[in-house]
Amino acid sequence: MTQDIIRFDRVTKKFGELTVLDALDFSVAKGEKVTIIGPSGSGKSTVLRILMTLETIDDGVIHVAGKPLWHEERDGRLVPAGEDHLRAMRKEMGMVFQQFNLFPHMTVRRNITEAPVHVLGLDKEQANRRAEEYLELVGLSDQADKFPSQLSGGQQQRVAIARALAMRPNIMLFDEPTSALDPELVGEVLNVIQRLSNEHDLTMLLVTHEMQFAKQISDRVCFFDKGRIVEQGPPEQVFSTPREARTQEFLKGFL
Ligand code: ADP
Ligand code: MG
Repeated sequence: MTQDIIRFDRVTKKFGELTVLDALDFSVAKGEKVTIIGPSGSGKSTVLRILMTLETIDDGVIHVAGKPLWHEERDGRLVPAGEDHLRAMRKEMGMVFQQFNLFPHMTVRRNITEAPVHVLGLDKEQANRRAEEYLELVGLSDQADKFPSQLSGGQQQRVAIARALAMRPNIMLFDEPTSALDPELVGEVLNVIQRLSNEHDLTMLLVTHEMQFAKQISDRVCFFDKGRIVEQGPPEQVFSTPREARTQEFLKGFL
């Protein structure tokens, strides 16, 4: 039996009058690599931001690793989660944003060691060793003493990936990680993500417009529109023989 590491049950999210997620059912198995595609405004980022508890939800339930994300069980009842619970849940996941979001006043090394020291309680030496390990993984061992502004966009994004990995999350969330990059820098970031996709136990949820890449690395592609999943399936099926007219229309834009 494969266990769902992420499960949304009838999750609704509104911003004022706007329903961004509309009774969404969505689940991801442990170790599965899932790509989310869809037009701008369809709710893709909101799904990831909710998982990171950067946004709340209006209705429904989300489970991560078998535990309710926004609630905790006390005396057999579901009650709103306290800070300790949310902190524990956040440790399951690492997120990489479109706009890198590195701390500009910190060196590359400090960017990576900050959370392992302050959230996980590693000592400085352990955290530095971890930083070296993940900088090597993303091919930036020689850049540890630089500041983000001294790096290219592709290098900054690779640091952001190393920073997320240094928390050793079970789930990695990528929100259009190459959309802000000059075309010639896209490949170096995709290479790193491609390598991560070979890690059997790591669950990956990737929002992207890089359809060729999505085809290569995903176990499943989900097409979102207006806060719902219109269609999902293996990449060969969704990209080559999409069933829904809306999916066909969307994919035409990427030929
Ligand atoms: P996507 O990532 O698919 O482009 P988003 O999840 O970012 O879409 O946004 C879905 C919709 O929610 C959009 O219409 C967007 O304008 C709206 N939205 C997102 N965040 C907020 C917010 N903080 N306040 C109000 N509206 C928001
Ligand atoms: Mg988005």
